[in-house]
Parts: sequence; C-alpha cells; structure tokens
Amino acid sequence: MALVELSHPQNVRGDFFVDTTCIDCDLCRQIAPETFADVGDQSAVHHQPETSQQEFAALKALVTCPTASIGTLSHLSAKAAVAAYPELIDDNVYFCGFASESSYGASSYLIVRPEGNVLIDSPRFASPLVKRIETLGGVRLMFLTHRDDVADHEKWASHFNAARVMHRDDIGRSLTVIERVLTGREALTLDDDLLAIPTPGHTRGHTVLLYHNQYLFSGDHLWWSEAYKSLHASQSVCWYSWPEQTRSMQGLLDYRFDWVLPGHGRRVHLSSTLMREQLEQCVIRMKQGSRAAS
Ligand code: SF4
Repeated sequence: MALVELSHPQNVRGDFFVDTTCIDCDLCRQIAPETFADVGDQSAVHHQPETSQQEFAALKALVTCPTASIGTLSHLSAKAAVAAYPELIDDNVYFCGFASESSYGASSYLIVRPEGNVLIDSPRFASPLVKRIETLGGVRLMFLTHRDDVADHEKWASHFNAARVMHRDDIGRSLTVIERVLTGREALTLDDDLLAIPTPGHTRGHTVLLYHNQYLFSGDHLWWSEAYKSLHASQSVCWYSWPEQTRSMQGLLDYRFDWVLPGHGRRVHLSSTLMREQLEQCVIRMKQGSRAAS
C-alpha cells in the first residue's frame, strides 16, 4: 500500500499520489500519461485526473504498479480497474497489468486462442487476474523470454498445468524445472502460428515470440522509445553481449510483423513496411554504437 508519509515531493496536490518506493518502471506513465509523469528517476502525479476516464486510467496504473507505490487519499475503490485486466490490446492479444516487482515491472501478455492460450512472461500471481484468465480459458503455454522477467512463473504454471517454454542458456538456479527447453540459435515452430526466435544479447538465452507473423513479443530485446520516436535497444541494459544483440536484431529482418510488444519500454503498432524501416535503422544505430564502444 502506498504511504502518504512517503509521498513524492513532486506530486501535485490532490487525491492521487506516488510514494518514493517507485522503481521507475514507466508503466503508470504508459497507462495514465495524463496523470503520471517522469520526474527524474521516479514517477509523480503531474496532473490530478479531471474526468472519469482519466480517473479510471489512474486506477488501472495503481493496480498495475509493481511496488504498490500509487495511492489515493480518499481510498478510492479500484474494483473496476482490477476487473479491467487482462485488457484487450488487439484482436485476441491482451496486456495482463498486475506487474511484478521481481521482474522490475515488466509487461506480460496473454494470447487467447482456440488451440490453447499463451502467457508471455509472468505477471503477479494475483487472484483476480488468475480468475479472469480462468474465464478466458486458462493457460496452456507459458513463454518466458528470458531469465529476468519470470516472476511468479512457478505459481502460474502449477495452477494452470501450463508448459513453460524457455531457452536453455537462460535456465539457472531459480529456473530448474522448465517443461519445454529450447536450444541453439535456429527459430523453432511451437505451433502453426507460434515461432520462437532465439535473440541472444540482452541475456545469453533471450528468445522472442512471433505470433501469426504479426505480433512480436520482444522481451527486453527491442522496444519503442517515446523519447527517440523509434524502435530501440540499449547497450546500458545489455547484460550479455551487444555484438550478439546486434546480430540478433539483424536476424529479425528476416521476419514480418507489425506489432512490437516488449517487457520494458513502449509497445508499438506500425505497418509492416514502416516496422521494417524502423528495424533497419535500429540495426544501423546498434552497429554504430558497437564501433563507438570498440
Ligand atoms: S507503475 Fe509504480 S513503480 Fe512503475 S513508474 Fe509508476 S509508480 Fe513507479
């Protein structure tokens, strides 16, 4: 629960506040940009909600915040905001909300499909979300892009008897039981519409998931940057190898997609032509970054 005595000094006066336990995951700014803003290395309320729509968005941010750093002085009910998750993004693809602190507030997603639903990375194992996912058909596969964003994977896999998919090179001490282990660098078809593409770089075993040649669940390999208005990857959060990540990014040019749905950073929908142009530019910048660093 957010503590008013820890209220961030840069909050504007009013009902909503952010406290100083914020870990700067960016999710509240994505969900309710009218209310929350970046104030250095944390978020604060820059404008109190004025409409019921803005208030609802701010409450969804409160529900999603991985550190429970958002509160209201009046203890507004978040019941409707809780029930909003998973939230439809497009077609049968949902954003799960309910981020987990152990994955540093990474976004997770659900694909609802007749062949069995797929959960991409792990949201918090929160009972309202679990119940809602039950009504949507449960989880058959749990795709873990990399070791950082696995959060409550054991609870999700156990509750839904879901098979976890992950690359061997990211399986370590806390990830001993993975039902479907990927190996090597070749893309692997998991089902007619699901392709796992190893993208080593951010971590050694990082893997992205391409669904329907349309949706790329990109983990921490690639995201949209609002600041640069471009597809982006960053050397500052590359834990394994930047040259490898650059090669992996180049490899993605072999595929067609028009959505990028990341763990961290902003998601984006572009035409596949524009997406390819953006990806080409991203690869060029990464190669320049590698040269500058060498
Ligand atoms: S969602 Fe929570 S942790 Fe993330 S930036 Fe907002 S207040 Fe901070």
